[in-house]
Amino acid sequence: MNIINPATEEIIKEIEEDTQESLREKLDKLRWAQPSWNRLGLEKRITIIQRFEKLLEDDIERLAGTLTAEVGKPLQQARNEVKGARSRIQWLTDHAEEYLSDEIMTSSHGLTEKISYEPLGVVGNISAWNYPYLVGTNVFIPALLAGNAVLYKPSEYSTLTGQEIERLLIKAGVPADIFSIAIGAKSVGEWMLDLPLDGYFFTGSYKTGKYIYEKVASKMVPCQCELGGKDPLYVADDVVDIKAVAAGTADGAFYNNGQSCCSVERIYVHEKVYDSYLEEFVKEVKSYKMGAPTEAGVYIGPLTRKEQVDIIEEQVNEAIKYGATLHTGGKRVDGKGFYFEPTVLTEVTHEMGVMMDESFGPVIGIMKVKDDAEAIEKMADTEYGLTAAVYTKDESRAESILRKVNSGTGYWNCCDRVSAALPWSGRKHSGFGATLSHAGLRAFTKPKAFHLRS
Ligand code: NAD
Repeated sequence: MNIINPATEEIIKEIEEDTQESLREKLDKLRWAQPSWNRLGLEKRITIIQRFEKLLEDDIERLAGTLTAEVGKPLQQARNEVKGARSRIQWLTDHAEEYLSDEIMTSSHGLTEKISYEPLGVVGNISAWNYPYLVGTNVFIPALLAGNAVLYKPSEYSTLTGQEIERLLIKAGVPADIFSIAIGAKSVGEWMLDLPLDGYFFTGSYKTGKYIYEKVASKMVPCQCELGGKDPLYVADDVVDIKAVAAGTADGAFYNNGQSCCSVERIYVHEKVYDSYLEEFVKEVKSYKMGAPTEAGVYIGPLTRKEQVDIIEEQVNEAIKYGATLHTGGKRVDGKGFYFEPTVLTEVTHEMGVMMDESFGPVIGIMKVKDDAEAIEKMADTEYGLTAAVYTKDESRAESILRKVNSGTGYWNCCDRVSAALPWSGRKHSGFGATLSHAGLRAFTKPKAFHLRS
C-alpha cells in the first residue's frame, strides 16, 4: 500500500498490508491476552492510559508532522487535534472509575443488587481518517480502560498515524497483544467483519456503516456506527454581532477543509439579517489563506482524498447549472495536490446535491428563510441527524428550535464542537449508539446484574 502526501501527490512510504492470515494471528494473540489485561484492574489501566496521554504531549511535533503529511491538514490544526485527543483522554481517565466500577443499586434486608461492567472481549474498531486521533480516542481508549483488547483499523489514509498510536500505547505499557492495528484498505476491513470479534465499532460513511451493520448482524454482538452528516445551522434575526457570527460559523464550515463529521454543511439565515451576514461571511472566507499545509498561517490545505475533489466539483457545477450564485471559490486548483477553493453558494435549493448530500469539503450553501418555522422545516429536511446549530440571543428560542430537529447534538451560539463529557451520537443515517460521556465509557462493556442475598 502506498501512502500519498495529498499536498504533493508524492509517495511518502510503502507499507505492507495485512493478510487474512496475519489478521487471524493478531486476533488469536488478542484473544489469549485479553483476560490478563482485564485482571490487571481498572486502576492500573488508567495509569497506563494516562502515560499514553503524556506521551502524546511529549511527541506532539512529530505526531502532528506525520498527520499533516498523510492527511494534508494544516500543521496547526494537526497540533490542535493531538491536544484535543489529550483533553478527551483526561476526561475519560478522570471518570473511568466513576462509570466502570461496580455499582450498588439497592441494599436492604440482606439483599444487595449491583451492576458490574464487564468488558466485551476483543473489539474491532474500523476508523476514519479525518480526525484519526479524536475518533480513534473515542473508541479505543474507553475500550482499553474497560478491559477489552482492541483490533484497530486506521483508515488507509491515516495508517502512519495508526502506527504512531500503536507505538505510543505500547510504550505507555499497553501489552503488545492487547492493542493491534490492522493495516490496509477496504478488503482488510472486510476480513475484520469475517473474524469472530466481540463487538464492532465503526466510524465512517453512511454507505460503509450500513454495509457493516448488515454484515455483522448475524453475529449477535454489539455494533455501533458513527457516520456522516449534513449538519444545518440557522442564524436568527436577533443576532447582535453579525461579523463575529459570520466568522464563527464560517470556521464551523471550513475548519479542517470541511472534512469534519460535524462540519456546518448548510446555513439558513433570517431574511432580516441575510444581506449583512452574507457580506461578512464571504469577506471572512476570502480572507482564508490556502496553500501547503506545512506553511505558517495556512487555513485551507489540500483535501485528503483525490476523489473528494471530483465530488465537490460536481456539487458546485450542478448547483450553478440550476441557478445558484457563486460568491467565491468554485474551482479545483491546477497543479499538484488535491486542492479546491473555499466556495460559497447562495440561491441554492433542496433539489441540489450541495444541500442534501454530505459535501465533506470546502463548500457551503446559504439560504434565506422568512421565519423560524421555515428554518425548522429546512433543517429537518435531511436523511442525516448528527448536529444542528442555532444562533440567536434567546436561549429558549434556540432550545425550542433544536428540540424540533432530530439530531444527536444541538448547539446554541456555537457549532462544530465535541465535548468528552457529552454523548457523541448520530440519528438516522448519522448512525446510532454513543461514544464519549458516561454512555461512551460503558459502550464497550456488558452489564452483569448481581442479586446477592447474604
Ligand atoms: P469510509 O466509510 O470510506 O471508511 C471508513 C473505514 O471503513 C476505513 O477504515 C475503510 O478502510 C473501511 N472500509 C471501507 N469499506 C469497508 C468495507 N466494505 N468493509 C469494512 N471496512 C470498510 O469513511 P471515511 O472516508 O474514512 O470517513 C469519512 C466519513 O466518516 C464521513 O462520512 C464522515 O462524516 C464520517 N465520520 C463520522 C464521524 C462521527 O463521529 N459521526 C467522525 C468522523 C468521520
